Amino acid sequence: MNYSLRKKNKIVKYIVIHYTGMKNLKLAYKKLSDKNSNVSAHYLISRDGIIYNLLCPKFKAWHAGKSKWRNNTNINEYSIGIELENKGHDFGYSNFSKKQYKLLKKLIIFLKSNFNILDKDIIFHSDIAPNRKSDPGEKFYIDKIGIQRFKIKRIKNNYSIDEMLFLYGFHISYIRKYKIFCIEAVKRSLNYEKINSSQSKKFSKDFSNLLFY
Ligand SMILES: [Zn+2]
Repeated sequence: MNYSLRKKNKIVKYIVIHYTGMKNLKLAYKKLSDKNSNVSAHYLISRDGIIYNLLCPKFKAWHAGKSKWRNNTNINEYSIGIELENKGHDFGYSNFSKKQYKLLKKLIIFLKSNFNILDKDIIFHSDIAPNRKSDPGEKFYIDKIGIQRFKIKRIKNNYSIDEMLFLYGFHISYIRKYKIFCIEAVKRSLNYEKINSSQSKKFSKDFSNLLFY
C-alpha cells in the first residue's frame, strides 16, 4: 500500500509542496505510483509542464512522513501533497521551470476553491519536517504562484527567534529539539543562497519582515 483512507474527523486544510529529489521524472513517477513504495502524492508536476494526478485528494497520500505543523501532528491526515520535478539537493538542484510555476498556480487555485484552503496553509515539506527535509528548498519562490505571505500583527517591539519560530507555525517540540533546522527552513523560505550560515542580525530582521506586517 502507498495510500490510505483519511480519518473521518480530519479535514483537508493544508497543501504541502515538495520536490521529487530524484534523478529523473520517470523514476519519480514510478516511485510515487508504486503500490509497494510506501510513498505517494496527489499530484506531480513535470518540468516540461504536465500535471499527473496520481491520487484523488479524498484519499490520504503518504508524502509528509513524520511531521508536525502548528498544533497538528501527522500532516498527511490534513493535506494534499504536490511534488515538483527537481533533482533536489542530492542530485543537482535546479531552478523550477516557468511551466511548473504556471501549472502549480492553476492547481492551487483549483484546490483552494474545492477544499477551502487558505494561503497561509500552503506550506513546505521543510516546514513540517525540518529535521529531515529540505524541499522544495531555497530555489522555490512562493510569490511566483501568487500566494500572499502569512503575516501577523506585531504587538511588541522585540520578539525572540523562538517566539518568531512559534508564530511562524513550527511545532513547539520541533523548536525545542530542532531549532537549528527550523531556522534553516525559514532561510529556505526567504530564498537565502547560503542555508548553513550562522544566525545573524540580518536573519532576525528578514524573518521579522516575513512574519509581521
Ligand atoms: Zn518532500
